[in-house]
Amino acid sequence: MNYALVVISVAVKTLDRVFSYKVPEDMKCRLKVGMRIHVPFGKGNRKIEAYVIGLSDKVDFDESKMKYIADICENYPVISEKRIELAMSMQSDYYSTMSDCIQCIIPKKVKSKTYKCAYIDYENNDIEIIDAIIAKNNKQSRVLEFLRDGGSIPVSHIKDFLGIDTAPINALVKKGIVKTEENEVYRGNYNLARTLKSPGLELNEEQKNAVAAILDEDVRPVLLKGVTGSGKTEVYLQAIEKVINEGKQAIVLVPEISLTPQTVDRFTARFGERVAVTHSRMSDGERYDQWRRACSNEISVMIGPRSAIFTPFEKLGMIIIDEEHESAYKADLQPPKYDAREIALKLSYLYGCKIVFGSATPSVTSYYMAQKGEYRLVEMKNRVNLSPPEINLVDMRRELETGNRSIFSRALKQAIEENLEDGKQTILFLNRRGYSTFISCRSCGHVMMCKNCNVNYTYHRYTNKLMCHYCGEEAEVPKLCPVCGSEHIRYFGTGTQKIEDEINRLFPTARVLRMDMDTTRTKNSHTDILDTFRSKGADILIGTQMIAKGLDFPDVTLVGVIAADMSLNLNDYHSGEITYQLITQVSGRAGRAESKGRVYVQTYDPQNYSIQAAVNGSYEDFYRHESEFRSLMKYPPFTNIFFVLVSGEDEQIVHRVIMTLYEIMVHYNRKNDFTLFAPTPAVISKINKKYRHRMMVKSDNGEKIRNFVLFCVEKLRGYMPLDGVSVNISLNPNYSI
Ligand code: ADP
Ligand code: ZN
Ligand code: ZN
Repeated sequence: MNYALVVISVAVKTLDRVFSYKVPEDMKCRLKVGMRIHVPFGKGNRKIEAYVIGLSDKVDFDESKMKYIADICENYPVISEKRIELAMSMQSDYYSTMSDCIQCIIPKKVKSKTYKCAYIDYENNDIEIIDAIIAKNNKQSRVLEFLRDGGSIPVSHIKDFLGIDTAPINALVKKGIVKTEENEVYRGNYNLARTLKSPGLELNEEQKNAVAAILDEDVRPVLLKGVTGSGKTEVYLQAIEKVINEGKQAIVLVPEISLTPQTVDRFTARFGERVAVTHSRMSDGERYDQWRRACSNEISVMIGPRSAIFTPFEKLGMIIIDEEHESAYKADLQPPKYDAREIALKLSYLYGCKIVFGSATPSVTSYYMAQKGEYRLVEMKNRVNLSPPEINLVDMRRELETGNRSIFSRALKQAIEENLEDGKQTILFLNRRGYSTFISCRSCGHVMMCKNCNVNYTYHRYTNKLMCHYCGEEAEVPKLCPVCGSEHIRYFGTGTQKIEDEINRLFPTARVLRMDMDTTRTKNSHTDILDTFRSKGADILIGTQMIAKGLDFPDVTLVGVIAADMSLNLNDYHSGEITYQLITQVSGRAGRAESKGRVYVQTYDPQNYSIQAAVNGSYEDFYRHESEFRSLMKYPPFTNIFFVLVSGEDEQIVHRVIMTLYEIMVHYNRKNDFTLFAPTPAVISKINKKYRHRMMVKSDNGEKIRNFVLFCVEKLRGYMPLDGVSVNISLNPNYSI
């Protein structure tokens, strides 16, 4: 092959094209599609990173103007051909550059690290000599014992593990018994708990049906709708077992690793060293190592959050997305703003792998797909060995009428009291964080706002400071109102800390734990809190949505949802769905073992259909109301919403750019295929000193609308320079922009 088609590693839209380079003679047999290379670029022929996405024997233009590839970075392709195809579809689906997409698929650091490793030189030493040293029972013998099974182990790891310094290893090297070498090894491999494999459980009928449906010939994704505690995890485990036995590989996505330690433990216990776990706190080096282990088929199962979808399994047989309704599966910070569920569908097309979307509370979109027959609905309606919890709705307006102004209703307060007496555990759930949402002046109504962003400061009692949750800016609580000088400063809202204070006041001897953004900033705080609670180191756990997820606490028999309607007031067409999901998920925490669970759902809006349906345990009721509402209001999944967001430091330029884009859209929307909405400031109109304006486009046809928006943005680029502003596009985002 004489020519290479390459994309350069620069995330600039105007350079997001395929460039052709000549392949030097000596590279011709080495160069492969998917390799990372360096090429000379631009007038100065600066060497920049690039990826080979194709090879060809002829090109259409003047060969004499073409440059040669400078060098090859690794002696293996860093991305497979199928995954190049994936990157291409992401490029158009998420309006990103090919470079961003490739970098999203491969680990940040494609660079191996070598370690100084030590091993026993069995060739030149008799086994008796080695055994004799081991028998001495000193530091050297411990080193030899550690190395005895063979293999080459990093010196640093031997030191850590045995708690020694380098001296005994050096002494053994001097004696000629141990040798050292530089090795590329995979970090973290040695620390894997060598857990005994736990055998599969005997499945019940519902579980058997589910496994059979997942494994049968039908290629459509399975939507596994199983109530909390119905044994979905066991279904995943047994389906994956079949996949592994066929020599294939599986990816399991969970919303957030640190919140699902038990699920992860069950996978490692079942599949031992064939499992790897990724999490967001891993270093780039660790990430790279896992990637290599996956590439070389050393592992068969990867379990991790959203980004684990890109695990480079080339024999991919199954993708499981647990808690598929979670918004965490959608990336919304950096481009490409992908949705792991959509990537899964694409991978299924590329690799022919099976997909399971599992949830007790499926997203409206997935359930709609199942209704249309695009997904197969498989239900598990019964909890294993358990009756469903008893759910009580409490009308907080009545409490107020009868003079109870506490955050706890009389019924919930009494239930907490009984539970404390019985030595059982209680979870109190609030969909908020912090002590008070905002601080305002009682005299003039001024609300304290972040100086960089157009959002309220949040008061954090722990630090006694105001903090902006968007840019992290901190400020002191003012003594006097900065606008009118009044000293009547008021704290608004109910937070987890306030619940904690109230519990401490009502039940001074109760042992209380709190889990929210404030108490979980440090590395292991999640696990520490959960472990303490599980080992019965506390009676009451107060928390935000963090505690609503797949946790299994056998002694929790009471769950209180403090303000169920709080999540209804989000600026978001999903708010009904989110409310239904949260109440259902957190209710599922009650009564996991032999004791029956009780749930109290407190609300000021007891007629709301999401709350009603959650309390009655009827997903069908919820879906019927929600789908009526969405189709009436033209919201996804019945239509597609495109948001175009323009942001920049100069508000006038931002405004001019988005108005121009709007006019272009109006002009080209001749047949009125699309519903256009005039530009407005975004929901948060300023973040980190950048002004944000947005416009919205709706249409039934997802493909058409995407092309239309992309076409208009290209026109805009041709029309005016877009220096100093960024244009961002999102399709059906998690929340209004
Ligand atoms: P889900 O993921 O649907 O909430 P889990 O998989 O966590 O449910 O199962 C709930 C509990 O039931 C777990 O403790 C699990 O070990 C147990 N379990 C699941 N399937 C079976 C089975 N077939 N036989 C006995 N116990 C089971
Ligand atoms: Zn004031
Ligand atoms: Zn801010």
